[in-house]
Formats: sequence, structure tokens, C-alpha cells
Amino acid sequence: MSKAEFAPEATARLIEQGNRRALARAITLVESAHPDHRQQAMALLAALLKDRQAIRIGLSGTPGVGKSTFIESFGLHLVGSGLKVAVLAVDPSSARSGGSILGDKTRMDQLSRHPGAYIRPSPSQTHLGGVARRTREATSLCEAAGFDVVLIETVGVGQSETMVAEMADLFVLLLAPAGGDELQGVKRGIMEMADLILINKADGDLKSAATRTCADYAGALRLLRKRSQDSEDFPKALTVSALEGAGLRQSWEEMQALVAWRREKGVWARTRASQNAFWFNAELRHALLTRLEHDPEAAEASRQLQQAIHAGDIAPSLAAERVVDIFLRPKA
Ligand code: GDP
Repeated sequence: MSKAEFAPEATARLIEQGNRRALARAITLVESAHPDHRQQAMALLAALLKDRQAIRIGLSGTPGVGKSTFIESFGLHLVGSGLKVAVLAVDPSSARSGGSILGDKTRMDQLSRHPGAYIRPSPSQTHLGGVARRTREATSLCEAAGFDVVLIETVGVGQSETMVAEMADLFVLLLAPAGGDELQGVKRGIMEMADLILINKADGDLKSAATRTCADYAGALRLLRKRSQDSEDFPKALTVSALEGAGLRQSWEEMQALVAWRREKGVWARTRASQNAFWFNAELRHALLTRLEHDPEAAEASRQLQQAIHAGDIAPSLAAERVVDIFLRPKA
């Protein structure tokens, strides 16, 4: 998409009509770091209809817990009931390896071939912040394209969960059946974010362990969190089997019940408003840093001061102030 031929309004209308090619190209555009592409991406996002709203579900769990199996069967359950489902990912490991947790679509073979579904790999950017900001914009594009549900997958490492929670309407944590002492292994911060904890693999030999684990987590959730302005019925723990399809309908009913409650009580709108404030701050910081990095004098001062910091010659806070002073100094 060169600058001359890009027409934000026309592209926006194509996306809103559900044109997959236009959607895929638009997501590629928002993922690009090229300054011309950023301009085009912002014009496109501004041209989109704002009245379409999907249910945005954040989904986390450590590798091997069954996320892709769950997304495949849960996604098929949703498209089977006539809903349109988009799957996006925030994967910090893709920043390191250049690969992607969703790169291999065979992980969700049936879902990826279903006309009601759209699966998009995690953008391969250099750092988590960049990946998350672009995934948030991709979420808006999917919403404008008329998807009813946007699933945003991430792996259980901490910081990526926080970012996904800041772009989701509800947060689901997938866990495997375990002994009671392993309860401690889940970071408290991630537990606190979860609206729904799903103990997966509740089938065969693992079924009774899953039921026990579920009871343990239900107890832990009661002790851990009582959000003052949120539904008393949540957070909740349930057992599911992604492999056998058990518990999927109930999971979806619980998610819908929570979203309906939050919409009715105004919590949903307040959450989206405070998420927008979070992303405004993130974008502002990023925009300022980018300008600073592109200022030759400030960039040079930054390089020199980093050496001085390394040698212990200057305090980090003072060095930062100096770079900002140089950046803000009137240019000749
Ligand atoms: P991910 O790394 O979190 O995406 O996990 P996968 O979906 O790739 O699943 C990891 C392994 O767990 C695979 O061998 C799956 O077949 C298995 N698995 C996933 N869901 C279930 C389930 O509900 N029950 C059982 N028994 N195994 C499952």
C-alpha cells in the first residue's frame, strides 16, 4: 500500500463489509513500524465505524495447558452457533524468535478453515509493548469487521497478561489439573486478573484431579479477590475438556452472563474508558521516545551518557534529565 493509492474511507468500508483480504492487509498495515504506514493506519482507524462491539476475551495459560486445543473447540462451538470469531495473539516469545505461537495454523486446523473464523498470528515486533499496541489496534479492526467475539491469546509469563487484560472485556485463565501444592505456582497477579479459571483436561484419568484442582482454585479465588464494583458471582472456577468438548457451553454462558452484568451496571463502559486512558499513556510515551530517538543531538547525548552511567560517572536520573534538556533545547 503506497501512500498515493491508500484510501482510508474505501478500505474502512471494505473491512466493515467483512472483506477478509482488506482486513488482513489492514492488520499488516497497523503492525508496520514504517512512518508512512503509521499515518495510514491512524487514518484508517479513524475512518472505521465505532458502533460495533465484540466481546473481547483475553485467554492465558502456560504452554501445554491446552490453549490451542481450547481455542479450536471453543471457537468451533461459537461459530457453530452462528457467531463470527477472530483469534489474535500477544506472544512475547515471537519478539525473541521471530516466530509465533499462532504461526502454525495447523494448531487450529478446523477453526482456521471455518468461514466464520479468522486467525491471525502474533505480530513479530521487537518488544512486547509494540506487539501489544498493534494487537489492540488489530482488535479494533476485527470489531469493525463485524466479529462477535475476539479471542486474544497469550502465554502465562506475567507482563503480557497485564497488556492483554488492558484490551479485553474479560480474562480467562486456563490451567491443568495439578496437586494442591502447585496452586502456589500461579502468579498471584495473574490469578487476580482472571474472571474465569478453567481447569482443562477434565477427562479420562485426569478427571478427578481436575475436579479437585477446580475446588482448590474456587476456594483460593474466594480468599484472594473481591472487586468492590464487580459481580459477586465472579471470579469463578470451572472444569472443561477442550479435547472432548465438555464444559464449553457452560463456559460461554458464564462469559456472557458476566459481560451482560457489566454492561447493565456500567462497569463495561467504565472499563473500556479506563483502558483507553491506559493506551493513551502508552502511546504518548512511545511517541515521545520515538521522537527523542530520532533527534540526532538527543540520541548522541543518550549514547554518551549511557557510557558514563555504565562507568558510574553520573546518576541515571540526572542523565535522563540531561537528555530531555537537550531534546527540548530550541533548535538553531
Ligand atoms: P498449548 O501449548 O497451551 O496451546 O496446548 P495444546 O493445545 O497444544 O495442548 C497441549 C497438549 O495437551 C496436547 O497434547 C493436547 O492434545 C493436550 N490437551 C489439550 N486439551 C486437552 C484436554 O482437554 N484433555 C486432554 N486429556 N488433553 C488435552
